[in-house]
Amino acid sequence: MSQSISVESRPTPTIEDYLAVMYIMERDGEEIIAARLAESLEVTPPTVTVTLKRMERDGWIEVVGRKSIHLTIPGCEAASSVIRRHMLTEWMLARMLKVRWSDVHSEAHAIEHSISNEIESKMRQNFDDPQVCPHGNPLPGYEYVTVQWRPINQLLVGEKAIIRRIHETAEDDADLMKFLENNGVFPGTQVEICEVLPFNQTLTLGVGEQSVVLGFSAAQYIYVEVSN
Ligand SMILES: [Zn+2]
Ligand SMILES: [Zn+2]
Repeated sequence: MSQSISVESRPTPTIEDYLAVMYIMERDGEEIIAARLAESLEVTPPTVTVTLKRMERDGWIEVVGRKSIHLTIPGCEAASSVIRRHMLTEWMLARMLKVRWSDVHSEAHAIEHSISNEIESKMRQNFDDPQVCPHGNPLPGYEYVTVQWRPINQLLVGEKAIIRRIHETAEDDADLMKFLENNGVFPGTQVEICEVLPFNQTLTLGVGEQSVVLGFSAAQYIYVEVSN
């Protein structure tokens, strides 16, 4: 795993946010498109255009052809660094401050930029070098840990599984995260697929004695390890 870049050579918090979103898109094999960046970062398309120009000038990204965007090696290192700080901060909030699981993502988002490399490595030691964040998303370099987990909407009725991961896209949806936490749908929970209604775009999970109905659009972000 690459070492953290020095604090002085880190990009600004805004650029770090762009880089993190881009890293995740590339990791997931998606094309980095300005429109999706605008949506995900909740900024206007003209703002994205201006920022991308700056990022290209500063060597964080490279634009091939007219709009194929890729992270450069420094861009990738800076992205890995901020994602690592984000995920370790989530662990700190969850474990030490007992912040609710559904809240740690948004709280960490505000703090991650100001974590020094020294604090980052202290957190890493303290939490025994975690490979995933409290939501099951991989720290950069540990992507292999999550590859065998499948989106829950690919399972069939009657299959049992353990929840392993709630994708970063869902982490950004505070209402969905609260719903999942209140219904016990988080990493480590054993579930069973009770019903799938394609015409309704829903699936029903058995979680202990409860049933929980999820729309396919949310279910695609929930990854499980099949256990039967
Ligand atoms: Zn997060
Ligand atoms: Zn997380």
